[in-house]
Amino acid sequence: MTIEERLEALYAELPHLECKGLCADSCGAISMGLHEARRIERITGEPLALMATLAENCPYLEAERCTVYDVRPLVCRLWGIVDAPGLRCDHGCAPERWLSHTEALTYVRRSLAISGGKEVTTIRGGLAEADRQYRSSPHAR
Ligand code: SF4
Repeated sequence: MTIEERLEALYAELPHLECKGLCADSCGAISMGLHEARRIERITGEPLALMATLAENCPYLEAERCTVYDVRPLVCRLWGIVDAPGLRCDHGCAPERWLSHTEALTYVRRSLAISGGKEVTTIRGGLAEADRQYRSSPHAR
């Protein structure tokens, strides 16, 4: 099985969510496995788009729609289907079955394993910079 096929098989295990497309304001900085990033780069023909601050929207959000929806990474697919604070849809969309936080973390680990443990992020400076920005933001208080 190719890496692409392994990613698709992993995504196919996730409970289905009928999205109403109202959650664009949730599309901020995202982190993903290296191969998830490579899929996006192949579709867009550009290196992974980066954002300077956590206050920006995801670089792949245009007119409130995801421009890479078919190859969006696991983290975007988990949003709205995990029964944990901050991961439920604010607009009432619910999955056919809720994932526990532990199940979600298992999916993250499995997706990273497919990418050889290598993680990348859309925040310039990587996850350490995202963490620094988050800690100094009003959300962290
Ligand atoms: S990749 Fe698409 S779904 Fe994920 S945060 Fe960006 S715009 Fe939203």
